Amino acid sequence: MLVSAKDMLNKARDGKYAVGQFNINNLEWTKAILQTAQEQNSPVILGVSEGAGKYMCGYKTVVGMVKGMIDSLGITVPVALHLDHGSFEGAKACINAGFSSIMFDGSHLPFEENFAKTTALVNTCDVLGLSLEAEVGAIGGEEDGVVGMGECADPEECKKIADLGVTMLAAGIGNIHGKYPANWAGLSFETLEAIKAKVGDMPLVLHGGTGIPDDQIKKAISLGVAKINVNTECQLVFQEATRKYIEAGKDLEGKGFDPRKLLAPGFEAIKAKVKEKMEIFGSVGKA
Ligand SMILES: [Zn+2]
Repeated sequence: MLVSAKDMLNKARDGKYAVGQFNINNLEWTKAILQTAQEQNSPVILGVSEGAGKYMCGYKTVVGMVKGMIDSLGITVPVALHLDHGSFEGAKACINAGFSSIMFDGSHLPFEENFAKTTALVNTCDVLGLSLEAEVGAIGGEEDGVVGMGECADPEECKKIADLGVTMLAAGIGNIHGKYPANWAGLSFETLEAIKAKVGDMPLVLHGGTGIPDDQIKKAISLGVAKINVNTECQLVFQEATRKYIEAGKDLEGKGFDPRKLLAPGFEAIKAKVKEKMEIFGSVGKA
């Protein structure tokens, strides 16, 4: 069964840990993340970008795959299926397809338009018992072709969106998607503290979790971050493990060409990375 992310994030906020959102791309990704969450007895959020949704043949296919896997793998930890950086249309499509959690990213829109569209979705999600993530202050880097500048969110705007009754709020604090450049200035904890002071109990979301040093992650959690998104890091370890397998010529030995063998090292690498992140975030044993 899929659940809203609301309870798991409120518990994480109170317990001073964070729940990981791990983005999925296919069956192997989904199985690796679900199995690891179960082994670590950790709540988990499966993130699906609009691009990944299209790649996996649409949101209904994703819902069918995830629900089927939860059933056949005997997954009992809380699992939320979450649209990542959704448009208004994408949010409506995922609600119809059976997602349990939605992110509407109106951060690139004029604030009034972001406010109005988030308001409309708060009402829909409330009625259906789904969690809703909103975003203020675009997060830098590239996500599905949209490039932001890594700005810091305006705490007053954060308060206006939080007061609408969203479940959790993503706010730019100098974080970016993808790999961080060598001259990155680090997270802006001044901004995070100012936002926290305005939004009170609202669980905060940290995007672009790949490559943020562990001490900054832990400090962000202590200041109110309850959800951390990890995407690129799983892609990198999958790529590295798959490259090693092929470069070692293992695909040419025996039945090494069998996709179930070819994809196995990448699968195991994702499992190890997800476990490592759950340990850093403190969500192990919190299901
Ligand atoms: Zn993001």
